[in-house]
Amino acid sequence: MTEDRGSSFGLPLRVAIHTDVGSVRDKNEDSAGHAWIDDELFVIVADGMGGHEAGEVASGLAVDVLGSFMSEAPGGDPRQRLYGGLLAANQAILDEGAAKGSRGMGTTAIAALMQGPKVFVGLVGDSRLYHIRRGALVWRTQDHTRVQNLIDKGLIDEEDAREHPEAGMLTRALGHNRMANGEDLVPDVFAEPIELEAEDALLLCSDGLHDLLDDWEISQMVAGREPNEAARDLVDLACDRGGHDNITVAVITAGDRAGAFDPEFAGQAGGVVLEQQATVARSRPWAANPTIPPTLQAEVQIELTRDLPHAQAVTEEEPPRRALWMGIAAMSAAALVGVALIAAAIGMAAAWWWSA
Ligand code: CA
Repeated sequence: MTEDRGSSFGLPLRVAIHTDVGSVRDKNEDSAGHAWIDDELFVIVADGMGGHEAGEVASGLAVDVLGSFMSEAPGGDPRQRLYGGLLAANQAILDEGAAKGSRGMGTTAIAALMQGPKVFVGLVGDSRLYHIRRGALVWRTQDHTRVQNLIDKGLIDEEDAREHPEAGMLTRALGHNRMANGEDLVPDVFAEPIELEAEDALLLCSDGLHDLLDDWEISQMVAGREPNEAARDLVDLACDRGGHDNITVAVITAGDRAGAFDPEFAGQAGGVVLEQQATVARSRPWAANPTIPPTLQAEVQIELTRDLPHAQAVTEEEPPRRALWMGIAAMSAAALVGVALIAAAIGMAAAWWWSA
């Protein structure tokens, strides 16, 4: 399903999400969702892990808690909301794991909060966000994986990474308080927002997609397409290539469809991508960003040491709000189940929209 809304920069933002169990696994542990919060668009993709249904519970909780968190504090600094929301989701998953005795359950999360042309991004794990212009990759997030660390150190390249025995091993995940380096979990919230131009596209996906498609393929598949078409075709292509994992794709376009492929721009963007990955993409924990005014810094510190009261508030709160944020998990017959969930969500709150 595709949903449109006007945006504050004069273009409709359109969003579509598709998910598929893939060709090998018997259940879908990915979850995804989107919501309009006043004029903001929030989109999230989460990829759960842990077996025995723990994966879909964890990814569903990430969607649920983050969504509630975003909607409860509209108007605040978007980076602080993403940061707090990711930590709240982490705590909710830890609590659920402790209550159910399923240790080790966890999830990735890639979340985007759009305020007009500005896009704020939060990440934990190896789900990705791509910023695509005229069929070329302008920027994407870097995974929290061991192989990304090896790439960063220049020990392997992107090609080697796919075949590496540690491919897919995460260094950060929601539901795990410690990162691989032993430090407390720090969500990546990018200090600088992405600036969208007309016909730009954003793509959020789980590794079931980017394991099987190169960045340039993903970028070119989006070019000239409207979001529903792009998301569906990408999922289908990943399935055709073996679909060894669950596949989830969210596509957002600024305007009716993404800009057509422009080989000249793509040639230039090749250089831009390398340049930006060396600089802009170097993620900084938002709280440590020196450009944030001291007052906000203090707020973030409080947020981090306050034992996450928001997580309590979110998990204890009963419908209707929680109901709006039903995690869309286990969507193996995704389209049909998704439509049913959307219908339920719409019934509970007519102003809110969900898709799967
Ligand atoms: Ca996966």
